[in-house]
Amino acid sequence: MDFIDLKTPYRLIQDSINSRIKSVLDHGHYILGPELNELENRLADYVGVKNCIGVSSGTDALLIALMACDVGPGDEVITSPFSFVSTLEVILLLGAKPVFVDIHPKTYNLDPLLLNRAITEQTKVIVPVSLYGQCADFDRINEIAKQHKLIVIEDGAQSFGASYKKRKSCGLSHIGATSFYPSKPLGCFGDGGALFTNDEELANRIRSTRVHGESRRYHHSRLGINGRLDTIQAAILLAKFDHFEAEIEARQIVADRYTNLIEKGLEENSELSHVLSVPYLEKGNVSVYAQYTIEVSQRETLQEQMNKRGIPTAVHYSTSLHQQPIFASFRTTKDQYPVSEKASSRVLSLPMHPYLQEDEQDRVVNALLFAK
Ligand SMILES: *Cc1c(COP(=O)(O)O)cnc(C)c1O
Repeated sequence: MDFIDLKTPYRLIQDSINSRIKSVLDHGHYILGPELNELENRLADYVGVKNCIGVSSGTDALLIALMACDVGPGDEVITSPFSFVSTLEVILLLGAKPVFVDIHPKTYNLDPLLLNRAITEQTKVIVPVSLYGQCADFDRINEIAKQHKLIVIEDGAQSFGASYKKRKSCGLSHIGATSFYPSKPLGCFGDGGALFTNDEELANRIRSTRVHGESRRYHHSRLGINGRLDTIQAAILLAKFDHFEAEIEARQIVADRYTNLIEKGLEENSELSHVLSVPYLEKGNVSVYAQYTIEVSQRETLQEQMNKRGIPTAVHYSTSLHQQPIFASFRTTKDQYPVSEKASSRVLSLPMHPYLQEDEQDRVVNALLFAK
């Protein structure tokens, strides 16, 4: 059983993917070719914003977004301690200071109630992460950001396609950043990402930062990077995007079935106590379930036992970002984020993809509940 099956989605639509790739090979515009433009227009429409800018990865999307906001030494950037390392890495790369705000215990996303006390004169940007495919509470985060004139960048690497109060992820704040890494909800066949914004000035800065800060050919007015999305990856994404809505629905069916099976199993076997919780969905949110993540006790033993039965599992993430060695020089005794630390010790992700079969799901849940 695959934790995420990347072969079936190719096999099912291989003709359209192959023909999209072939047209790129035929016209030869490998860099900034017509498919990139076509993809950017389609994704901007989908998200409901004016500008989509394809970039080289989710990490580069975050880096370019911060560079476009002129983040650098002396600036503070607020983010979640419970995320993939990229969210922290890009802040450090620019010489800015990361400031963590603990997460909500059920959604695992930045807790807006704790936001105000983390804001200082140096704060420039807030980067909420929409973890596991569920958006953070953007209405409340945006309201606080507005009072303090801060920019909000959504790390939507796991939430592309999700919605929050009927609005799409990546269109909920000044800038939305996402990843097309193969295992993400909308994945390409290599590295890729995109940025979204309604702000024309930010869009221009992002476009320029993506190509070495060029304002015209060989004239570099901003510090930039090589951060483009390959034409071939854009072509692959165009073919895959036709099936994206159906895949999101399939993910939700798989997730709902997991939850029902687990809850039923726990009800019928009241002696089981190692499964502590199933995913919680906040009212108004539609998740794309980049991960189906539960909380358990004695996680390592459970993982071992499930693995013996051929069930792959994963932990996103076993170490909170404030406990990572790359944050060591910034760490103070005040850097305690109990909710994030507790989640880090308990979360367990089950196999999750749109093509997971019912009998496979039954095996996963059986192994989870009756591991011993
Ligand atoms: C995957 C991921 C990223 C980085 O995306 P890449 O395309 O792998 O660079 C950033 N943030 C989060 C929350 C992610 O899950």
